[in-house]
Amino acid sequence: MQQAPAHYRIPVGETMITALCDGYLDLPHALFPAATDERAGELARKAFLRPGPIPTAVNAFALESGDRLVLIDAGVGPLRGESTGRLRQEMQLASLDPARVSAVLLTHLHTDHCGGLLDATGERAFPNAEVFVSEPELRFWTDGGLPSRAPEAMQPMIRIANAVLRAYGNRVTSFGPGAEPISGIRSVPIFGHTPGHTGFIIGSGDDAVFIWGDVVHVAPFQFAQPEWGLSFDVDQAAASATRRRIFAQVASDRMRIAGMHLAFPGVGHVVRDTTSYHYVPSPWRPLG
Ligand SMILES: [Zn+2]
Repeated sequence: MQQAPAHYRIPVGETMITALCDGYLDLPHALFPAATDERAGELARKAFLRPGPIPTAVNAFALESGDRLVLIDAGVGPLRGESTGRLRQEMQLASLDPARVSAVLLTHLHTDHCGGLLDATGERAFPNAEVFVSEPELRFWTDGGLPSRAPEAMQPMIRIANAVLRAYGNRVTSFGPGAEPISGIRSVPIFGHTPGHTGFIIGSGDDAVFIWGDVVHVAPFQFAQPEWGLSFDVDQAAASATRRRIFAQVASDRMRIAGMHLAFPGVGHVVRDTTSYHYVPSPWRPLG
């Protein structure tokens, strides 16, 4: 027996956002260098997590307005085993034809966000899509000196990011920090996790949703301990500073957020506590 389909509609003004789950990745708490065993165990128990690696969702978001179908991130794709790579199947189940996707906006070029742009044969999984990446992000991953500077663990990521960029060739466009790469979708620089890590705001006022990419990887840890960076952060100190800044901002603005690694569908609010923060997931609700 299989799990039920993983898609969820979030209407925002004239845009229908559909949260889609590509699957999950197991993240061991050793990926958080600042985490002590004791505190990580305490937070894991508090969140009813079993001992061992933490199953972490990989989400992507489809945006439909009129005839336009846009994706924000594309999941892992068929590259990392059976726990991920469900995105296109989930899209079909949600009546979203991958061939209709005209643009994919990437929060950053890590494999769990861009790998799904390729199919199992290395061809374009979204044959009619243009790909949008922030300028600093594109510059970082295409720098010819990066492979010799980067640690071993980063080498597969560099190869996959460049394979994706090659497959889409002149369909890849970069945009400046804060630009609106597509009308109605405003980019927000949230650098640190990667040098060009970018979020996107859809809608305005109470309705708006801020799709924040990888501000949080493991919710039970990082809302309580925002200073806990992930070893995959290109700059852990900058990523932590960004996380604190964004938490403070969305908590005071009461702005709805959506995350690629928050438990599916990954939409909710951030609330300030006395010393840190907590996350309030939005409940399922009917449309209309
Ligand atoms: Zn990620």
